[in-house]
Amino acid sequence: MKVFRLGSDARAFRTASAAASIGFVPTMGALHDGHASLIERAVREHDLAVVSIFVNPTQFAPHEDFAAYPRDEAADLAMCERIGAAMVFAPAVDEIYPLGDATRVRPGPISERLEGSARPGHFVGVATVLTKLFSIVRPDVAYFGQKDFQQLRVVQTMSRDLGLGVGVVGCPTVREPDGLAMSSRNRYLSADERRNALALSAALFAAQDDWSRGQRDPTNLRDGVKRAAAVPGVALEYVSVADPLTLDELARPAERALISLAARVGRTRLIDNVLVGMKLEEIA
Ligand code: AMP
Repeated sequence: MKVFRLGSDARAFRTASAAASIGFVPTMGALHDGHASLIERAVREHDLAVVSIFVNPTQFAPHEDFAAYPRDEAADLAMCERIGAAMVFAPAVDEIYPLGDATRVRPGPISERLEGSARPGHFVGVATVLTKLFSIVRPDVAYFGQKDFQQLRVVQTMSRDLGLGVGVVGCPTVREPDGLAMSSRNRYLSADERRNALALSAALFAAQDDWSRGQRDPTNLRDGVKRAAAVPGVALEYVSVADPLTLDELARPAERALISLAARVGRTRLIDNVLVGMKLEEIA
């Protein structure tokens, strides 16, 4: 497995393997089994699998956890190698944002709700770094987790709108045995917080059950999630029942929905979602 720090080296590696089909998994490191599932899929479905590890400063607001974000490159590289990645691109910040860098990619309305409204500027940072990474790696397909569903939709839309020629594929959320969605930020949770955080996935699973029993009213679904997640130590930021493709909030019963939430558990911000009435593979 090759590890490159410079875009020019990663690009040269890519160019030399021009005939191969390339699967790409962009990450911010602190890899867990959720990331592993994406890398495994890239390895399985392509001649070469490429992983990037880059904690992207432009997608963090000044008050967010960029400096404290968990970093464990040695363990990350070992995981990539074990799974069979051919190349890891792990640049320094000034390799991606050299002195004077000023160009930004601004995604459309799909980036303005939910996480975009809770974290202004977040998706400009995401779209900008992925445009840069896609231009270096030039993958055929890039894999993203359902856990960050809005990111998946923003990147799908961006790739189509800009004609990047990169297929953007969603992969199911990998969970701990008790239901908690795996996240690099789970490392911040104390044992008590970890227990409290279970209310989030439990509330979404309960909504999924309501849906399968025929509940279609978005207000009832939202209220159910809010009630189920109302436990001490959990501060909900938003609960959304939205159209899975546009992410417009649903005002009326619909035949498919993304039920999503963001919450603070202690000082840690967590997000999670479930998709109902539609399969992840249909999201493209
Ligand atoms: P991150 O390192 O948090 O930027 O995540 C890199 C990629 O891994 C993104 O596409 C995430 O959606 C995906 N990912 C993160 N957590 C999970 C999970 N629990 N299951 C599946 N994919 C995940």
